[in-house]
Amino acid sequence: MARIAFIGLGHMGGGMAPNLVKAGHEVRAFDLSEEALAQADEGGCIRAGSTEEAVKDAEAVITMLPAGKHVAEVHRDHVFGKAPSSALLIDCSTIDVATARSVEEDAAAQGYAMVDAPVSGGIAAAAGGTLTFMVGGSDEAFARAQPILDPMAKAVIHAGGPGAGQAAKICNNMILGATMVATCEGFAMAKKLGLDLQTFFDISSKASGQSWSMTSYCPVPGVGPETPADHDYEGGFAAALMLKDLKLAMDAAQSAGAYTPMGSEAEELFQRFVDRGGGGKDFSGIIKMIDDSWKVPEE
Ligand code: NAD
Repeated sequence: MARIAFIGLGHMGGGMAPNLVKAGHEVRAFDLSEEALAQADEGGCIRAGSTEEAVKDAEAVITMLPAGKHVAEVHRDHVFGKAPSSALLIDCSTIDVATARSVEEDAAAQGYAMVDAPVSGGIAAAAGGTLTFMVGGSDEAFARAQPILDPMAKAVIHAGGPGAGQAAKICNNMILGATMVATCEGFAMAKKLGLDLQTFFDISSKASGQSWSMTSYCPVPGVGPETPADHDYEGGFAAALMLKDLKLAMDAAQSAGAYTPMGSEAEELFQRFVDRGGGGKDFSGIIKMIDDSWKVPEE
């Protein structure tokens, strides 16, 4: 059993923290939102009045925050110097590689071991303890992080040194964004060419057009396994979050000098879908913009 501070109990963190409690850990939780704190309390966490109070005698500090600026601010203003220097810092948020590396450098300068450990899998996987963690950090820090992450995970994979978890996450999601758009285009065109979409799925899912976006997350209602397409694109992975990840990927591509024309096109298309009111829909809902059946919601 370890004393774990958990900061950020929103859609993801709110599902993850109770799995640590179930595994026998003592979890001290803090969030700026009273509603999130009340839910964490119901999940067996101990409410803290501030980040400082949560981390004060923690053996590990987990953060699950919206973006890089929150991760940097929480660590620099509320964790460094407040948590014991023996505490392992684990940031599970999805943030830009540069901020992840700079916060990890500052942590090391203050004597802390830290890893970036972003996740694949959405709200259901967070609650079900079946997330995939991609971890960046030293071998020693990874070895310490793995048993803490295990109760929340289907897989915990060491991606490499500091920032490597974030790098793996955005490269993966850039592939996902682009393959989803390509899959949507394929189905929309198949329909215009008069193909039956179930028949096209039966063919393409066993041919070279196959991908996760097609066989596990088909964007067409009633075709393939049950997906958000069968629920009017509600639930799942919001288009606004896909856009966030594509923007992070494009920033990283620019700083690394990587040529990513498909990623850049996917970013532009998701930006257009979000601008037309699709941000709250599952990202596969972009098929409705591609086949021109999307109705812009009224203000
Ligand atoms: P969320 O907005 O629901 O939760 C973030 C929480 O952080 C909120 O409850 C907010 O009040 C809290 N917070 C913000 N600033 C804080 C501070 N200074 N101190 C304490 N608490 C603070 O977001 P989410 O959907 O849970 O996503 C969290 C992270 O996980 C994001 O980086 C996101 O990109 C990533 N992610 C999300 C999903 C998903 O499907 N939602 C999937 C994979 C990864």
